[in-house]
Amino acid sequence: MIAGRAMKKGSSVVIIGAGIGGLAAAAALRRVGIEAVVYEQAEKFARVGAGIQQSPNAMKVHRGFGIEARLRDTSFAPATSLNRDAETGAVTNEHPLGHDVEARYGAPYLTLHRGDLHAALAAIVPSDCIHMGRRLVRIAPDGAGVVLGFADGSEVAADAVIGADGVHSLVRDHVQGHSQEHAEVSDRARFTGRVAYRTTFPAARLRGVDVGASRTKWWGADRHIVIYFVTAARDEVYFVTSQPERADWITQESWSAKGNVGELRAAFARFHPDVRAVLAAALEVHKWGIFERDPLPAWRRGAVVLLGDACHPMTPYMASGAAMALEDAAVLSRCFAELAGARLAQVFDAYEATRKPRASLVQTGSSQNTWMRNATDPDWLYGYDAWTAPLAAAVAA
Ligand SMILES: Cc1cc2nc3c(=O)[nH]c(=O)nc-3n(C[C@H](O)[C@H](O)[C@H](O)COP(=O)(O)OP(=O)(O)OC[C@H]3O[C@@H](n4cnc5c(N)ncnc54)[C@H](O)[C@@H]3O)c2cc1C
Repeated sequence: MIAGRAMKKGSSVVIIGAGIGGLAAAAALRRVGIEAVVYEQAEKFARVGAGIQQSPNAMKVHRGFGIEARLRDTSFAPATSLNRDAETGAVTNEHPLGHDVEARYGAPYLTLHRGDLHAALAAIVPSDCIHMGRRLVRIAPDGAGVVLGFADGSEVAADAVIGADGVHSLVRDHVQGHSQEHAEVSDRARFTGRVAYRTTFPAARLRGVDVGASRTKWWGADRHIVIYFVTAARDEVYFVTSQPERADWITQESWSAKGNVGELRAAFARFHPDVRAVLAAALEVHKWGIFERDPLPAWRRGAVVLLGDACHPMTPYMASGAAMALEDAAVLSRCFAELAGARLAQVFDAYEATRKPRASLVQTGSSQNTWMRNATDPDWLYGYDAWTAPLAAAVAA
């Protein structure tokens, strides 16, 4: 098994999935001289209507990729994280972002369109390293390496595989030792009974309603909504909700499933008029089931390792899932570089031992949905720098 041998120069490394995690992994590995090849099931990248928050720890990873300036140019930099009671509008916590967060952590806090973030990452991975329309359907150990089978009937041999294939990861099923034929039932993420509605739309549709200079979360008893601009020009607005849904509501987590805007407005009819005005301006919404999973027992098996939502899917309540995937990518590349000549198993162990405690903490914290509602100290989250944080001591030794 390759896992028991040292990685040789020229070994083939394959990444499954060209989401934020997979592209970040490809970019990070290139920094240490590893030219990984990415296989993505989608035929092309789509610009779905969604925003994303990038905290300073995520921005430090982007700095290492050389895309910080690009992201700063196009993104919105909220002045504060504003938390308000859904009905009265009373402020429960206003945490400074803007200059304050940059002075404290050495990097900004930005909100932007998910498509802009994805495009910035895609731009630093050569297009001939990304194969679109290739859905992985099978993984099998093959002598010293692994053989990957795709839906189009093609096969690819690899010395090492990084599974960045998201929350319903097939690679995870392999790592967990589950039969791929029974992947549908083998390791389902838990439906939380809640859904997120989200959309972006032109700010002009607000007709003077002020969204403000903050990223604002309105907290109700059993539901909430987060609203912010996603462009530096403040011409595009995003919101994302979380609210209870029928327990028997079934969906795959899909970025493209549509929701009913009338049902959404009714669900938030008791919220503050400012929130209702934003919902009234929305043209259409997407609806996404919120799933979670307990931390996995193992992130790797043989020559295969997991990254991002494939190994630590989380509820979106700390706005940190992509940040964790980005940190994973940076740390994994450092493990390859700093343990050059070591067995692949040692490289992957160092990565897992370094990343798992932090990712699990964020997974658990996200489930609680209390982040920033009242005074919160985010030093441990925002202060982390994946390019310099110590690798797990036991393994590095
Ligand atoms: C509503 C919502 C809001 C969020 N907001 C934030 C936020 O503000 N900040 C933040 O940091 N995070 C946020 N997150 C979390 C973040 O979106 C995810 O953690 C992040 O996208 C995970 O990236 P990933 O690359 O691991 O997985 P994905 O983005 O899911 O990418 C996986 C990729 O793998 C591909 N793939 C899957 N299976 C196969 C296969 N068999 N063969 C080939 N390709 C395959 C998929 O097509 C996809 O392109 C939010 C999540 C949600 C749901």
